[in-house]
Amino acid sequence: MRILVVEDDTLLGHAVQAGLRELGNAVDWVSDGMAAERALRAETYAAIVLDLGLPRLSGLDLLRTLRARKDSTPVLILTARDTVEDRIQGLDAGADDYLVKPFDMGELGARLRALVRRASGAPAPLLRVGDITLDPAARGVRHGDRPVELSLREFALLEALMRNAGRVLTRAQLEQALYAWGQEVESNAVEVHVHHLRRKLDPAAIRTVRGVGYLMGRAEQV
Ligand code: CA
Repeated sequence: MRILVVEDDTLLGHAVQAGLRELGNAVDWVSDGMAAERALRAETYAAIVLDLGLPRLSGLDLLRTLRARKDSTPVLILTARDTVEDRIQGLDAGADDYLVKPFDMGELGARLRALVRRASGAPAPLLRVGDITLDPAARGVRHGDRPVELSLREFALLEALMRNAGRVLTRAQLEQALYAWGQEVESNAVEVHVHHLRRKLDPAAIRTVRGVGYLMGRAEQV
């Protein structure tokens, strides 16, 4: 999934970006509040990891701005300030979770998965569409009882389609979910990944909606 990291500490920002990438996410990292605000207007993120003490626009102000315009992207606050008041302020300003530095990268990844799960209205840890099961935590996919090996991008694409089962996702939306800034997107990348997924899973698993995009599961009634 695509994640925005807002952190002005260079070492920590690097570490969080690298750690979340290793867990299979597409991660953009910005180091001040205004840059975060610009990124959030331009892109769609599954979740935001937000430091509170930031140059130009504080994390709390950014969060308030975001919520004031009804942007409900899940936000996890990451901060060294371990006071009860900070936590209360952050949560009251619209944060969904809180992690105090120093923290464990595995725990950050798990908390983000939990936030995205709740936000997508699919509270079960496993995603299921037909006889395909995807485990976001273990990064495993099964077709019936058979484990299926996927590349990082194939996995990310399948996860996006399964989280949105019944909805058509456009190629642009899928590219957004798959690629961070600076990562070259080849013009037919999504088609190629879909082709591989169909071959590895089931030719009928992903439907093409001509001129619109791709869909898994039964289409929602409109
Ligand atoms: Ca800071």
